[in-house]
Amino acid sequence: MSIKETRVFESEVKELLHLMIHSLYSNKEIFLRELISNASDASDKLRFKALSNPKLYEGNSNLFVNISFDKKDSSITVEDNGIGMTYKEVINNLGTIAKSGTKSFLKSINKDVKKDQSLIGQFGVGFYSSFIISKKVVVYTRYAGYPINKGVLWESTGEGSYNISYIDKDKRGTKIILYLRDNENEFLDDWRLKNIINKYSNHISLPVRLKKSFEKNKENNNLKKTDEWETINQAKALWIRNKSEISEIEYQEFYKYLSQDVNDALIWSHNNVEGSQEYTSLLYIPKKSSWNAWDRNNKHGLKLYVQRVFIMDNAKQLLPNYLRFVKGLVDSKDLPLNISREILQDNTIIKKIKLSLTNRILSMINNFSEKNEKEYNNFWNEFGLILKEGPAEDSINNKKILELLRFSTTYNKKEEEKISLKTYTNRMIEKQKKIYYISSDSYSSAKNSPHLELLKKNNIEVLLLFDRVDEWMMSYITEYNNIPFASISKIDSSLEELLNIKNIDNKKEDNTKNTELFVKKIKNYLNDRIKEVKISYRLVETPAVLTTDSNDMSTQMAKLFEVSGQKAPEIKYVFEININHKLIKNLYNINNVDLFNEWVELLFEQALLSEKGSLEDPNKFIKRINKLILLKNN
Ligand code: ADP
Ligand code: MG
Repeated sequence: MSIKETRVFESEVKELLHLMIHSLYSNKEIFLRELISNASDASDKLRFKALSNPKLYEGNSNLFVNISFDKKDSSITVEDNGIGMTYKEVINNLGTIAKSGTKSFLKSINKDVKKDQSLIGQFGVGFYSSFIISKKVVVYTRYAGYPINKGVLWESTGEGSYNISYIDKDKRGTKIILYLRDNENEFLDDWRLKNIINKYSNHISLPVRLKKSFEKNKENNNLKKTDEWETINQAKALWIRNKSEISEIEYQEFYKYLSQDVNDALIWSHNNVEGSQEYTSLLYIPKKSSWNAWDRNNKHGLKLYVQRVFIMDNAKQLLPNYLRFVKGLVDSKDLPLNISREILQDNTIIKKIKLSLTNRILSMINNFSEKNEKEYNNFWNEFGLILKEGPAEDSINNKKILELLRFSTTYNKKEEEKISLKTYTNRMIEKQKKIYYISSDSYSSAKNSPHLELLKKNNIEVLLLFDRVDEWMMSYITEYNNIPFASISKIDSSLEELLNIKNIDNKKEDNTKNTELFVKKIKNYLNDRIKEVKISYRLVETPAVLTTDSNDMSTQMAKLFEVSGQKAPEIKYVFEININHKLIKNLYNINNVDLFNEWVELLFEQALLSEKGSLEDPNKFIKRINKLILLKNN
């Protein structure tokens, strides 16, 4: 007998166990799903390793997981003949939480346990869920190909520590015995266990077998010595079955198994592709975004199988980044079985599969958007931000991606009421030749921007952009169905034409001359802080705004540079004034140079504030306002 070691759990494991045992899982039966799923993973791993080293099978390549229970000692046993674990692996896998995601999740959950209850299933708490129903868990395991005396025994009551030692184990793989808590005897029941297996594990390709009860054995064959096992699940990989044979519930269960998501999938697409590339794909769009979906570095990608042998998780190379919220699998006929993650990168087969999967996903989303506008809006709220990375990443599919985009607009009263570009272009007014948009920091600052005043009055719709990625995205989008985009905070002659400015600006000649002088005076004062002063055609209620030249960097783009730590070139704005505004008319009549300049400064600061959302020195600005108010009142 080897030396028994007692080790304490990593502190996060203790926390996790505590959370689960007290309160977290309302759904106790999932422990079995987790253990079966681990057995299935272990069998997949063995199959994969045995490709290059068949000795690992130790003469038996018939893989399964056996489940039995014993009423005498209130125990359930789950035994597989998969890869097994080494001593070190047992310590790492059953004593710590390896996944960083689970750790950071634990940190965040402490604050609001109730709210996040349903979330915990998303994190690899798998094995530890045994302790929800068990007062003690014992694991016997031996790594495939290891000598018989290198088996490992692990046992714990889930209260802070565990024992581990070497043992003799003749069969490779892992056997887990759960000693149930006193009030969990409901699970010591054929029918109950069968039900759970059917519910959660039907799609698992590994045969899940239940030991036939003693009574049944007795009927069949007087007091049989050897055990008899009944395979409960279909034990056929779901994706190779015929679509018409697979129920919606099965697809959903499989989705949850694949993605570790507790929510249902929104839609899926299951395809068998023949021709130059032969593969099967099963792609799911989740209903809910996972808490870290925005993070490009987080694990994502599809499961990759080659001829039904599991090769790897999270094969990122099969999907573009902007579709990283898609879950699912690809089972290829053409890839070599020994393909590695490194090779994946430049593999032409992978590249071709990626292209066609991308197409498939975009069409699937597009179909969905056409059929369910309202539900599509929910989808957009979950994943729109990620999809917006599309135009920059995937110029080939630009057109298709554009159809999927949704925008808030000046035509609607609420931020959530979003429209497609198709809707926008369908209701463009006569003679309108461009798609107008404005970008700002928030919905309300976009919606209330002074740039919009005259457009609103003339019923010209403007898209409101206020997500951080928007400005960056717009730099990759130039047109939709040959209609160009135009930012209304940039100088744009099409707008002037559309608004028929020539008429508005129709003034008497001498007046025009005076105006020219007036504009010059302002420019002289502001000098090279601005590019030029212009009479504005776009303002109604606002005295002045700042615009940029069509080739210059926009304010939002400059901000983007700043938050990413880069220095943006200084923007030279065009100072546009509204000569019909009372304040400007007032200014026109001020002869005192100092006072004139003070007013120009104030109007300039106002325009800056409105454009950028902040001023370098707000106090100066406030002092100036106060001074001018007092002057007025005296
Ligand atoms: P996950 O399955 O998400 O990795 P689990 O808590 O379910 O998390 O399991 C932790 C790890 O323990 C697994 O990744 C695997 O390496 C190992 N493990 C668990 N059960 C088995 C088993 N039956 N055979 C081999 N390894 C196992
Ligand atoms: Mg698991």
